[in-house]
Amino acid sequence: MDQISYAEKNPTVNMKKPKRVLVIGASTGYGLSSRISASFSARAETLGVYFERPPKEDKPASAGFYNSLAFSKLAKDKGIATVDVNGDAFSDECKEEVIMKAKEMGQFDLIIYSLASPRRTDPKDGNTYRACLKPIGSIYKNKTLDTDKEEIKEIVINPATEEEVYSTERVMGGDDWCSWTEKLLESDLLAPGCMNLAYSYIGPEVTRAIYRNGTIGKAKEHLEQSGRKLDTLLSESVNGRSIVSVNKAVVTQASSAIPVVPLYVSILFKIMKAAGSHEGCIEQTTRLFNRLLYEGSDQIPLDEHNRIRLDDWEMEDSIQQEIIKLWPQVESGNLHALTAFSDYQKEFLKLFGFGHSRVDYEKEVDLINPF
Ligand code: NAD
Repeated sequence: MDQISYAEKNPTVNMKKPKRVLVIGASTGYGLSSRISASFSARAETLGVYFERPPKEDKPASAGFYNSLAFSKLAKDKGIATVDVNGDAFSDECKEEVIMKAKEMGQFDLIIYSLASPRRTDPKDGNTYRACLKPIGSIYKNKTLDTDKEEIKEIVINPATEEEVYSTERVMGGDDWCSWTEKLLESDLLAPGCMNLAYSYIGPEVTRAIYRNGTIGKAKEHLEQSGRKLDTLLSESVNGRSIVSVNKAVVTQASSAIPVVPLYVSILFKIMKAAGSHEGCIEQTTRLFNRLLYEGSDQIPLDEHNRIRLDDWEMEDSIQQEIIKLWPQVESGNLHALTAFSDYQKEFLKLFGFGHSRVDYEKEVDLINPF
């Protein structure tokens, strides 16, 4: 609801805006916000793909399932068309189901690829690959935050093996994004001028060895290289573009699983809130739609590697200098004074439906039809 009202208050006013959008990874985090910006800022119809556990009589669904149910209801109430596919986006079956449903909708003019997954079964070789979050080449030692115990601890992570580096690339690299793009193109589902976006992250010096120079960073490099190949493919076939957008660090299920990141994000939020430049997922995706992708000029601002930099405010020198200054000072005793950890905790709980002021948590709910 909060994200929808933010998107409605910030409409995409330009003549040029998306009409039909495919969001892969649409139920939580950046994918959900992208879908909300597309529908409620730009009034586009969307097809959302996600992998969520549906409810049983006595067991609730996963949070992303209810997010998607609520999204569809609120969009339909406003006359905005939505179609959902709940399945494994890495599989051929899921891609075929999407293609079948998309043929009834019409061509997409925007694709958002926003998957974050710990594993992938590659339909080409039948192997299941697992992603890991490890440094490459040497042992990683740094402080980290135990979010349950509210304690700053030291973390030591051994370097990844070559197999782990490769496996992580198979999961979070660009291979599956390429498959989606090629299949959609073969099925004539990409409109002239179609924009094809995938999300990436770079991050600060304090997480460099575990993130950008680690296994996940290698996979992101692969995603970015794939983006450059797909850019040529789309420009030659439909006069379109494939671009990677480097987004800001936010609280999501995926980012909370990365060592050191919750501590970095807690410090970052404190600094960016004080500077007045703090953004969550919805502020990021709405800025992407309204200021970068569809602002009027045909030139999308890109960095030297052809990437959109939505992390520009996070990476500002003044913000990063402050991180470098605070990082060595933070310890368990001053955690709340030096960081915005309580905001981090509130956002984390909200990911799973807790801590919303409008919800009466005492009330009985129908797990199957809650809305
Ligand atoms: P998230 O965990 O909130 O969302 C992941 C989405 O992927 C969910 O909708 C989930 O259902 C879907 N998904 C996972 N496995 C799937 C499968 N097999 N089939 C279909 N759907 C599947 O993650 P997020 O943090 O929003 O990450 C999305 C992207 O944004 C990632 O590429 C991530 O690297 C990037 N990113 C995240 C951050 C951050 O701070 N969270 C920053 C920059 C970039």
